[in-house]
Amino acid sequence: MTTKALIWFKRDLRVSDHAPLAHAATCDEALGIFIIEPQWLASPECDPRHVAFTLACLDALRNDLASIGVPLLIAVGDAVEVLEGLRSGHGVTHLLSHEETGTGWSYARDRAVRRWAQQVHVAWQEWSQTGVVRRLQDRRGWAGRWQRFMDKAMVDKPNQLRAFAGWSVREQAQIPDLQMLGVQPNGIALPEAGEAAAREVLRGFLTGRALGYRKAMSSPLSAPEHCSRLSPYLAFGCISMRQVHQATEAAIRDTALRELAYDVRGFSSRLRWHCHFMQKLEDEPQIEFRNVARSHDGLRAGDGTHPDALDQERLAAWKEGRTGFPMVDACMRQLCATGWLNFRMRAMLVSFASYHLGLHWREPGLHLARQFLDFEPGIHWSQMQMQSGTTGINTLRIYSPSRQQKEHDPTGEYVRRWVPESGTAAYPQPIVDEAQVLGAIKAKLYGLRKQEPVRAEASAIQLKHGSRRSGLPPAKKRSSKTVVSSPQGELF
Ligand SMILES: Cc1cc2nc3c(=O)[nH]c(=O)nc-3n(C[C@H](O)[C@H](O)[C@H](O)COP(=O)(O)OP(=O)(O)OC[C@H]3O[C@@H](n4cnc5c(N)ncnc54)[C@H](O)[C@@H]3O)c2cc1C
Repeated sequence: MTTKALIWFKRDLRVSDHAPLAHAATCDEALGIFIIEPQWLASPECDPRHVAFTLACLDALRNDLASIGVPLLIAVGDAVEVLEGLRSGHGVTHLLSHEETGTGWSYARDRAVRRWAQQVHVAWQEWSQTGVVRRLQDRRGWAGRWQRFMDKAMVDKPNQLRAFAGWSVREQAQIPDLQMLGVQPNGIALPEAGEAAAREVLRGFLTGRALGYRKAMSSPLSAPEHCSRLSPYLAFGCISMRQVHQATEAAIRDTALRELAYDVRGFSSRLRWHCHFMQKLEDEPQIEFRNVARSHDGLRAGDGTHPDALDQERLAAWKEGRTGFPMVDACMRQLCATGWLNFRMRAMLVSFASYHLGLHWREPGLHLARQFLDFEPGIHWSQMQMQSGTTGINTLRIYSPSRQQKEHDPTGEYVRRWVPESGTAAYPQPIVDEAQVLGAIKAKLYGLRKQEPVRAEASAIQLKHGSRRSGLPPAKKRSSKTVVSSPQGELF
């Protein structure tokens, strides 16, 4: 029997270090497929910027696949229907893909595809590409496993595969554009897409831009230049985490510059965080929707158990960058206009929404997910909860926007760039009285964390999700944050 492999591309838009593509070489014929799913386009995290970047990555991927004889079909529709159409029309025998740690809709989609594959006897094989472990029992030994996975030899790109009979790399249908998909472009300038661009960004970072990384990453003025800016490429899989890890270790070994090696080491440890946070969503898919610490339900309006609805006016002011807090508004405006913001300022935006405005994290999190070009569900929802204080185990951090401004934009250059009207009569008054609102929420949280059942729950959460190794997000006390309490350390 002729074996026919469909290589199902999802968040792995590259040809190097790609296990499903390499495995296709063991089958007689191969075809690449990317499915633009209506569930994705309709999902509350999806923004036109994500669709535009994906289409541009597909263009690059199609060329790379053509060079090894594999046509790429881009289909629009429900995954099971598309796959079944290909099976019944072309006799697909194998479905090869990477595992995905996604949001609710893609999790449901994967379960439906699994049922379909079993019913119609298509062999669906999946590989991990991130160091996230499926069906993990507990976190013991996780960091060591991650290290071994990342140090393993990369998967070779196959030389030439044979396309499905009747398919040619020379006659491929046009890649749809946003209009054809019914998506309204929002005109933000996107970074160059695709695998070659990802490699170039990595190279540029490791050979020069990384110098000063540790210090520069905190300020929104210096971070855009000195952070790696690899996050969209990792989120869409234009480069694998293993490629980044191995290039990073080589750069540390090979550089003659001690200062550069020091900065690149700081970057290197963050690569593990990427997978550490994704593992949390993999282990507990519900953290996308509800508090990790259920004892914190009802803490803020809008969480489904609090008697009050979310304050829509506050939410709108935050989303539109008109809270009357210049640093907050500048960050939000930069993010919406460019699709990227550095870690500290992301954390400040969430802290402000949660502690100053009293908003439950879900709605603000959806807004941020749409703005971040690098939206990665596992990191995103874990960080949303961590920065809102609903994990039950992390040090509670409340960022003061004025102190952040003093420390990271001392001349006011950044705020002037994004909020030119600040300091004039045209700029709104602060939306809340900072001292008053923070006093109330701190009292609530202090009270909560003292309760015995809350502490017991925290221990169970620590066991399930906590890291067993240092080197994960540091628990430094800094003057620009209010550290409320730290009963369990900061290893979430
Ligand atoms: C509320 C909130 C939401 C976030 N949502 C996302 C998201 O959806 N997608 C995303 O990639 N990152 C997210 N982050 C983490 C972090 O802000 C970004 O990874 C980083 O700013 C991306 O820029 P970079 O690639 O230049 O980072 P660099 O500093 O150059 O780091 C390199 C890579 O390390 C990983 N990394 C760095 N910091 C972290 C971190 N704190 N946690 C996990 N991984 C990290 C990322 O893969 C990043 O691309 C979020 C942070 C917060 C506070």
